[in-house]
Amino acid sequence: MVETSHNPPRVIALMNQKGGVGKTTTAVNLAAAAATLGSRVLLVDMDPQAHATLHLGVDPATLDHSIYPLLLDPESNPADAIIPITDRLSLLPAETDLAAAETELVSESLRHHRLVHTLQKIASDYDLILIDCPPSLGLLTVNALAAAHEVLIPMQAHFLALQGVSKLLETVQLLTASVNPTLVVRGVVLCMHDAQTHHTKEVVADLEAFFELQRKTDLPWADAMVFEPHIRRNIKLAESPSFGQSIFDYAPDAAGAKDYRDLAATIFAPPAPETQEPASPEVHILPQHSSEPTETTG
Ligand code: ADP
Ligand code: MG
Repeated sequence: MVETSHNPPRVIALMNQKGGVGKTTTAVNLAAAAATLGSRVLLVDMDPQAHATLHLGVDPATLDHSIYPLLLDPESNPADAIIPITDRLSLLPAETDLAAAETELVSESLRHHRLVHTLQKIASDYDLILIDCPPSLGLLTVNALAAAHEVLIPMQAHFLALQGVSKLLETVQLLTASVNPTLVVRGVVLCMHDAQTHHTKEVVADLEAFFELQRKTDLPWADAMVFEPHIRRNIKLAESPSFGQSIFDYAPDAAGAKDYRDLAATIFAPPAPETQEPASPEVHILPQHSSEPTETTG
């Protein structure tokens, strides 16, 4: 994880190996909300699809610098690549070449810690660093998890998504055993949420019950929660990337703006005191339900 001698920034990775679940939307809008709340925020785009970069109005095709050479060349200067978006919000953009970084890094030394090294050079400039992960558990995501203190899991409340979360938690646990021992899972952000359906309510109840069972364990998700508010499905959130704007610039009065504003207030409030007691490392969330799964693809 990123350490500095003074006021280290809080570093949060938004991770889910499934695509289309709301990672980028949540990363961009939480970053914008945190900046509005007064933090100096850096959003790091670790996805070769460069969706967070596009969402903030930056065309990856026009970039001279991006995260990609920074990961490959430890001598490079991240300040050259960082783009100011507003007074307090900056972007470390991705370009599509980032896909190649994943392959090229495999043979490099310290390949898990390239992003840690990059962020250390600029850590004192920020209070908060949010990392938008690609939809995979590959080397780019491992770099994000090595650099982060906390993981947020954006997901949709679908039965099959629970299985994905089990897999994701296993990955986090592996990482804490090797690359980043102090990494914690802060919780789940439910995206594109439809609170009315029976199925959704069941999945939310299962998730909450699962996390409740993990309290007082020494697992990385012992204090994890299902954050509120859940982010409602809101067309303005889907429209805003094509205008290169956060929801707060594109539609500040929309339900999506209210939800992300309230979520930011919840997530960026001071953390609760820690508790520690050992327990079993099993990762099982899946209960048996009568209703049919309605998984989406992404
Ligand atoms: P991921 O980064 O996990 O692939 P995205 O954040 O890109 O997911 O979201 C996938 C798609 O769903 C995007 O087109 C996005 O604009 C849209 N979307 C995300 N959250 C919402 C929401 N709450 N309401 C409506 N559309 C949403
Ligand atoms: Mg994305």
